[in-house]
Amino acid sequence: MRVLIVGAGIGGLTTALMLHRRGMDVTLVETAAEISELGTGINLLPHGAGILHELGLGPQLAAVSLQTRAIEYRTQYGQLILRDPRGRHAGSPWPQYSIHRGKLQAVLLEKVRATLPSSAILVAHRFEQFENAADGAIAVLRRRSDNLPVTIKSDLLIGADGIHSTVCRQIHPGAAPLAFSGTMMWRGIVEAEPFLDGETMVIAGHRDTKTVVYPIEAPKGGDPVLTNWVAEINIGKNASYQKEDWSRLASLDEFAATLEGFRFPFLDIPRLFHASKRIFVYPMVDRDALPFWNCGRVTLLGDAAHPMYPIGANGASQAILDAATLGQAFDESTDIEAALALYEQRRLPATAQVVASNRGRGPEAVLELARQRVRGPDDDITALISQVEIDAITKNYQKVAGFDATTLTNRAQSAR
Ligand SMILES: Cc1cc2nc3c(=O)[nH]c(=O)nc-3n(C[C@H](O)[C@H](O)[C@H](O)COP(=O)(O)OP(=O)(O)OC[C@H]3O[C@@H](n4cnc5c(N)ncnc54)[C@H](O)[C@@H]3O)c2cc1C
Repeated sequence: MRVLIVGAGIGGLTTALMLHRRGMDVTLVETAAEISELGTGINLLPHGAGILHELGLGPQLAAVSLQTRAIEYRTQYGQLILRDPRGRHAGSPWPQYSIHRGKLQAVLLEKVRATLPSSAILVAHRFEQFENAADGAIAVLRRRSDNLPVTIKSDLLIGADGIHSTVCRQIHPGAAPLAFSGTMMWRGIVEAEPFLDGETMVIAGHRDTKTVVYPIEAPKGGDPVLTNWVAEINIGKNASYQKEDWSRLASLDEFAATLEGFRFPFLDIPRLFHASKRIFVYPMVDRDALPFWNCGRVTLLGDAAHPMYPIGANGASQAILDAATLGQAFDESTDIEAALALYEQRRLPATAQVVASNRGRGPEAVLELARQRVRGPDDDITALISQVEIDAITKNYQKVAGFDATTLTNRAQSAR
């Protein structure tokens, strides 16, 4: 079976590996002239990590990332609300990885290059449109070198072309535009002294003013490590903002003063902002769930199918889960339309739930509880928020996002 995947991002590359190992003849088309290490830090949840381990990528991931020990949710004054163990530290069979997005993409790309024929990746080709035929899909690409059209016929076409998916636009010409949450996210990476145990992520503040900080390198005996930070400010849903572009550069004066108070004894967050050479800005956007993903021999995957707020570290992980589910659907059915139907049935409702849960801020709802009840740095959190309230929020989210203990154990057992 010939498969054309549009987009060599995290979702597209994982899908290529999943389908190639099932004997399919896969081609990836990527609009970028070269696949370079772009982006800042992201997290790979244990269920996504498990899938990459099954592809044999555990050692490669471990070499270029941090295995996250815990997430600490803290108030805007720095008090600890919740320490949430992660990955193996929470009893999962797989780690949670904090990693540079570009490094994760590079690990996947290297594996694709090592296992698929060299002609399998077509860079500098922009997908423009498709046409469904009785026995496949015909894609029209635009070659960047001479601007000429190139036509490729395949049995199956997968749109893994990210948040501004052209494939999605053709399937759903009337789809609602991306919805802005009102929050802008400034992001950067900087070499910094380790904080806390050197393996913990800190999320501090509340939905109007928040920071997220985590190392993306394993500890180096107390030496500085690459550290990712995000500063989030709510500018209001109706405020105008520039179109979503992961590479848009920004400056300190757009946000740093608002977060000046986030200087804690264990971590001086504004210092990280000031020490960063490059700062990026991105609006927090998502989209209401689409009614369907499949259109004849064409389907959607990853951000193209379900853009979601980057809350709870789900963007990359959900794209990887899509890829694994699509692969499994072909184990269960050799009929292409039937396999696509299985894939959509399993993944569309599941990802719609994650989109909705992220709108409710997922596990970060604990920050809102603290915001309502904590008045200053000397307040005693344990007297203001009960463990039962905290557990209700975190356990529910783990279930929705698919990384609660029972789901992970079942997945590990079925992988054996
Ligand atoms: C450059 C870049 C930087 C990012 N940085 C971050 C980050 O710092 N933090 C974060 O949380 N998320 C980031 N993301 C998004 C994150 O990678 C995704 O949310 C998640 O990994 C899901 O991946 P995906 O494969 O669905 O989409 P993506 O990773 O976005 O990949 C989509 C791919 O499709 C390609 N493409 C798009 N249109 C076409 C077309 N018409 N023809 C051919 N190819 C096309 C894109 O160039 C891209 O390589 C970034 C995405 C990109 C593209």
